[in-house]
Amino acid sequence: MESDEFRDEMAVAASNLNASALSQFQLCDSCLGRLFAKVGRGVENRSRGIIARPLLNVVSPEKDSECFMCKGVASRVEMYAEQAINALAEWEYSSFLIGTKFEQEILASEETVWSEAGATLTEPIKAEMNREIGKLVEKMTGKEANFTKPDIIAVVDTTYESVEVQVSSVYFYGRYRKFSREIPQTRWPCRECRGRGCERCNDTGKMYQDSVEEFIGRHAVEITGGKDHRFHGMGREDIDALMLGNGRPFILEIKDPKIRTINYPKLQEKVNASTDKIEISELRPSDGDEVVRIKDARPNKSYRAHVVFSAPVNEENLKEVVVSLGGTSIAQQTPTRVIHRRSDMTRNRTVHKLEARMLNSLEAELDITAEAGTYIKEFVHGDGGRTVPSIAEKLGISCEVRALDVLNIIDNE
Ligand SMILES: [Zn+2]
Ligand SMILES: [Zn+2]
Repeated sequence: MESDEFRDEMAVAASNLNASALSQFQLCDSCLGRLFAKVGRGVENRSRGIIARPLLNVVSPEKDSECFMCKGVASRVEMYAEQAINALAEWEYSSFLIGTKFEQEILASEETVWSEAGATLTEPIKAEMNREIGKLVEKMTGKEANFTKPDIIAVVDTTYESVEVQVSSVYFYGRYRKFSREIPQTRWPCRECRGRGCERCNDTGKMYQDSVEEFIGRHAVEITGGKDHRFHGMGREDIDALMLGNGRPFILEIKDPKIRTINYPKLQEKVNASTDKIEISELRPSDGDEVVRIKDARPNKSYRAHVVFSAPVNEENLKEVVVSLGGTSIAQQTPTRVIHRRSDMTRNRTVHKLEARMLNSLEAELDITAEAGTYIKEFVHGDGGRTVPSIAEKLGISCEVRALDVLNIIDNE
């Protein structure tokens, strides 16, 4: 089975060890073989140990539990694999990863033997056990071990023979539209009690009873048997702004899901039937990497602003202003309304497109397409000269934004 070449390499490696120092320890086949872990490939340490034993005067313990290094842990791979599979049984997963924890004494014994024997071709018991338990779990379940993005991790504690399960979040993408001026995008904990519940929030722990996140999250958690949710939006609109048009992209993360295979049409239907305040569409699976992409995206957006003027405006005047400001760059010093939480600086933003319709001599509706990060309200009223140019400045009339809605998130051009 093992080639002559491999046996020769083992013999050389054995001759490089301090045999007399090694002979004071009783070691099981796995632990002896692990001193040669880097000799040859595709061989189990147990087999290496069997080959190495006649080359060295190392006694095999009568009982596995008497092995100086592992105290019998290395012989319990099958038991640990079964414990792991049992622990994972209540979760849906297609890929997994095995981790292990050991008594400090075992790790210390390992160090002792290695340094006394002068062993350099070793591997830690942890690496061997992770791999061997993993291989067996793969065989017994037909699921795949995945070292970078497992659905689930089982950490076997060999001291207490218990298993701790860590479940990876499940993510899905979608777009939402919001038809209410009274709900925030994400859960908003009460400022007073920070979520514990108090008089101000009626013991709900929340500033707002509902949010886009919760309308979606509560059904997603129910369908997946998850514990909690987290909302990742491609930006956000103000609470009192509607989100219309093609909707805003988001990713919902569900923590500790029992079920990972989501019936998206059904989830979409459930959410949309539960409220008339939001509507979701285009649901599909996603992952943590896409969260980063969504958070970093800087899409242009188009808005509709309902503007009220302080004095009657001539329609021709307004059209001229609109033509002069469409496609221009504006300089925005941090708005007074956010200056308490943003550094005071000037940013240049491009207003790509601008259209206006008079509603009456005192009111107009503006459609504005602008670069990401543009402060739209300030572009309209000028913020006391902090945004230049602005609609108000060009008209020579002060004005205010009565309502501001997002028409489209232009993220796929
Ligand atoms: Zn051992
Ligand atoms: Zn409260």
